[in-house]
Amino acid sequence: MSGLNIGVLAVQGDVAENIMTTKMALEELGIEGIVHEIKYPEQISELDGMIIPGGESTVIGQLSLVNGSLKQIKEKIESGMPVLGICAGMILLSKRVKDRVVGDMDQPLLDLLDVKIERNTFGRQRDSFESEISMEKIGIPKFQGVFIRAPSIVETGKNVDIISKFNEKIVAVKQGNIIGTSFHPELTDDLSLHKYFVNLIRSKN
Ligand code: GLN
Repeated sequence: MSGLNIGVLAVQGDVAENIMTTKMALEELGIEGIVHEIKYPEQISELDGMIIPGGESTVIGQLSLVNGSLKQIKEKIESGMPVLGICAGMILLSKRVKDRVVGDMDQPLLDLLDVKIERNTFGRQRDSFESEISMEKIGIPKFQGVFIRAPSIVETGKNVDIISKFNEKIVAVKQGNIIGTSFHPELTDDLSLHKYFVNLIRSKN
């Protein structure tokens, strides 16, 4: 095997931080691989794994729809490629979404992760905060959750595992090859979640 090919969708959002964190995770695990930006639909077919970073889900969705990436990404995930959707990235992966203030939203979605998301759950007055959370189910008992205008998951389908809650709200889920988090693992020094994701990619290759 010539090493893993991991892409970070580079439409908007925390791209550089995710590239760096994933590279460090590969290095610590001693796994060969490259991590790079994905800007064009043609880059998607070669990938072994993908991160969709946080940002603004309406913008990421609209731009990906227009340049044709959305369809390619969807097919690739359906064929089993592991994907980590962070905050806006998780929103994009989901099937249903509403906004805490505006209500039901009609925005481009990948329609894969069987959850209903509430955008901006944690309110504007607390735009951004950190709190310790736990992802025991995937072997990460302690993790620093960085929440930035974060969504929560308000409904889950039967194939969805809840991997973390904060204040009774669901903030991380897994459905087979799809992981979604409300918080930003690339903004902490802790590589555990990125390592877990890299191992998931390796297990499929
Ligand atoms: N509030 C943003 C949205 O709804 C997500 C914020 C983030 O990705 N940090 O798309």
